Amino acid sequence: MALLPVSEALKRILDSATTLPSEPVGLLQARGRTLAQAVISKVDNPPFDASAMDGYAVRAEDVGTVPSTLTVIGEAGAGRPFSGTLGKGQAVRIFTGARVPDGADTIVIQENVTASGSAVTILETAAHGANVRTRGQDFAQDETLVAPGRLLTARDVLISASCGYGELPVVRKPVVAILSTGDELVAPGKPLGPGQISGSNAYGLSGVVEAAGGEARFLGIARDSLASLDEFISAANDADVLVTSGGASVGDHDLVRPALENAGAKLDFYKIAMRPGKPLFFGSRHPGGKLQYCLGLPGNPVSAMICARVFLVPLIGRLLGRETPFEALEAVLTDAIPANGPREHYMRGELDISTVPARVTAFKKQDSGLVKFLQRANCLVVVPADAPVLDAGSTVRVLKLDI
Ligand code: AMP
Ligand code: MG
Repeated sequence: MALLPVSEALKRILDSATTLPSEPVGLLQARGRTLAQAVISKVDNPPFDASAMDGYAVRAEDVGTVPSTLTVIGEAGAGRPFSGTLGKGQAVRIFTGARVPDGADTIVIQENVTASGSAVTILETAAHGANVRTRGQDFAQDETLVAPGRLLTARDVLISASCGYGELPVVRKPVVAILSTGDELVAPGKPLGPGQISGSNAYGLSGVVEAAGGEARFLGIARDSLASLDEFISAANDADVLVTSGGASVGDHDLVRPALENAGAKLDFYKIAMRPGKPLFFGSRHPGGKLQYCLGLPGNPVSAMICARVFLVPLIGRLLGRETPFEALEAVLTDAIPANGPREHYMRGELDISTVPARVTAFKKQDSGLVKFLQRANCLVVVPADAPVLDAGSTVRVLKLDI
């Protein structure tokens, strides 16, 4: 099988995935979730003509010439409307947020009056409708306020609370099972025996999944045997996505693909024209009739994290029905980048968005064994396959590593 270009691999992943069903959540849990159906206002806002200031509700025609002395016939506060109707020569003491009494059309601010007993003298004229927030001037009933697919912000939650919703329909979080594989791996924090290393991938990948809006479930470390892999893979049967790390190339101990195929997976592709991360596979299976996507990441921690950023984050975004599951931005290189080979190169680097245009520096050291430079990077610089030398000042595509 020829190496598949990254864009083609990503397209296949995104084309195969559809939005998960929705579930209701309370407003306090809604921020950071993805909206499943439009928020359509159930009310006019404001729901009534309301005073924007503390002052006196009047008829504009009574304050066309000043000074003008009116009779105060009552009071209206927020949540305490005045029940009568205001007539010629009359005023109602009013406070911010109160419903404008029937018969009144204008609010004179309290700074522009002198009051004494039940008389108020208006000292400044006020235009018809001054200081009145008219019913529906903000938004109207049946107006669409938030579109589905939106990653809900605090502002979205606020307006939803304003327009009649006590809970919101959001897309269920994809459950992403994560399986580490390798005889050499031990749990982090445990002392290392001969030839052993700490299995770190699952911990980084869990964070990627959660940051992307999924629910991560770490299955554990499978040994490099079909029996062990089978056992762990069946423990993932109820997940929406099964992510494995390691065992993905074609060595004698690389058994993840055969194990997945034994478990019913149909593999779509398994080699990508990408650096780092050539041995990456994608497919799906149907344990118990449920569709499950299978993504096999390389074992190398740098490759695993970069491939997760490039493929898993957009997959989760698509399962959530996000409008833009794959966001890239542009930045200008501070230093030249050498000519590239036939695989698209995802270089670790440092992005500075405090300038316009944004500036980016690709690290000199790109050895995929160097986890330290992954940790220091805040972005990936995307260098197309077969690109010539890119001089300082060239514009490049950049993926943020905000994970
Ligand atoms: P593999 O793809 O299984 O051949 O693994 C490639 C390299 O990544 C090997 O050096 C493994 O020891 C290492 N590796 C695999 N899985 C992990 C993991 N979970 N954490 C850290 N390193 C790993
Ligand atoms: Mg291995």
